This record gives sequence, C-alpha cells and structure tokens, in this order.
Amino acid sequence: MTNKVNVGGVNIVACPSINELIDTSILNSDGVIPGMAIAVNPEKIIAAKNDPNVMAILQSATVCYPDGVGVSYVMSKRTGSKVARIPGCELWERLMERSIEKNIPVYLLGATQNTVAQTHEKLSVLGVNVVGFKNGYFTKEQQQLVIDEIVSSGAKIVSVALGSPRQELFIFECMKQAPQTFFMGVGGTYDVFTGNVKRAPKLFRATNLEWLYRLSSQPSRLFRQSNLLKYIYLYLTNKV
Ligand code: UDP
Repeated sequence: MTNKVNVGGVNIVACPSINELIDTSILNSDGVIPGMAIAVNPEKIIAAKNDPNVMAILQSATVCYPDGVGVSYVMSKRTGSKVARIPGCELWERLMERSIEKNIPVYLLGATQNTVAQTHEKLSVLGVNVVGFKNGYFTKEQQQLVIDEIVSSGAKIVSVALGSPRQELFIFECMKQAPQTFFMGVGGTYDVFTGNVKRAPKLFRATNLEWLYRLSSQPSRLFRQSNLLKYIYLYLTNKV
C-alpha cells in the first residue's frame, strides 16, 4: 500500500527510500505496473496552480514523487515521519539496475543523438535490455512515427528526456497507445549519466542545496526558481 500526501492539490507518494518507491509503485512480480511517473518540485506545484492543463497532467500520473526538498519537507511535516526526497536521475538509474533482474525491455527517448547513443551503450554494458533509442529532436509531425516505433519495440519501460512540460505531454499521448507500459519523464538525466553535464558536488546535494548550485551554473533558471519563493509563501500561509 502506498501512502500519498496532498500538496497543493497533487497527491504525492510518501516513501522512505527509492527502492520502496520502486517496489510499491513501479515493479511487481509480473514486471511493470503500467502508468507514468512525474517528478514534483515546488516549481511544478506553482505551475499546476496557475495552469489547469499542468494540473490535469499531474493528476493523470500514476506516480508523483517528491523531487525537491521543498516538497519532501512539507510531506514530512504533514505525515510526522521522514519522507525521502527522490531525485529523478537517481530513481531512473536504480530502475535501470532493477530492470536487469527481470530482463524488462527498455526504450530510451530524448537528448541529443550523441548523448542517447552513449546512454544506450553504457546501459547495455551493465546488462540492461535496451530495445530501442532515439534522440529528442523531432517535429510535431514526426511524433506519431516516434510513438509507432516505441510501440513496436515492445518496451515495457520508456524513459523520456525532452524537458518539461514537453516530455509529460509526449508521455500523455504515447500512453494511450501503449497502455501496458511504464513511462518516466527524466529531463536532463542522460546528460548527467553520460558525464556530459555535471551534477552538483556532494556537499550541495547533502545539504539540499542542489538548486543553488544549478542556479549559479545556469542563471537563466532564476525565473523558474522565483516560483520557489511563491511556494514558500503559500506553505507558510497554509495554502498548499
Ligand atoms: N531536449 C530534447 N529535445 C528538445 C529539447 C531538449 O531532447 O527539443 C533534451 C535536452 O537535450 C536535455 C533534456 O531534453 O537532455 C532537457 O534537460 P533539462 O535539464 O532542460 O530538463 P529539466 O529537467 O530542467 O526539465
């Protein structure tokens, strides 16, 4: 049984660890539990409050998990027990490892051709059964061809790295045509996995300041992160 906590109208899975999230919400004895996982951070909660389409997508996900200390903190306060922050890139890597035991077929979509090919290579060496991969630079007109390729590959786990909200919108469409599959939006995960982009140093991660590191190395994120202040205000005034 998974415990879900409502934060700003979004029901988010409260788990003490990544493995527990995988065991309760993603894998079962037959393989995968079909659906879609979305990482939720304060920016997305604010976006959902302002835009009913974003809210509809979050509510259509089978698994919303807390990828942001602002969200896991509120959940821990509400439940009275520690709720782990689950970084999307760590969840994806663990899921890839766990897929090996059951030989679950995996499809990788998104990022540049070079990055997705390197990701495929690295996962294959580890023993992951990658049945197809494709870069994320295609037009709206080509989208149906991409979906057809995913469906005919027979993949049961599809990870999609197109950035938000495009990856969630893509998954929403693809899920209708592959209802037995588990989908996960992974943002810049392949870039980090292949070493083409660096994650924050350990000190920033351990002190929950990964967002500050990303802001200093990519100042254009300031606008997105201003929603963090709005989120804190809403939390303090009991509105999330
Ligand atoms: N990307 C893509 N197609 C596009 C735009 C972006 O495949 O048309 C990829 C990009 O190469 C990167 C990922 O999407 O690997 C987005 O990463 P970002 O860090 O912006 O995602 P976030 O997690 O911040 O939404």
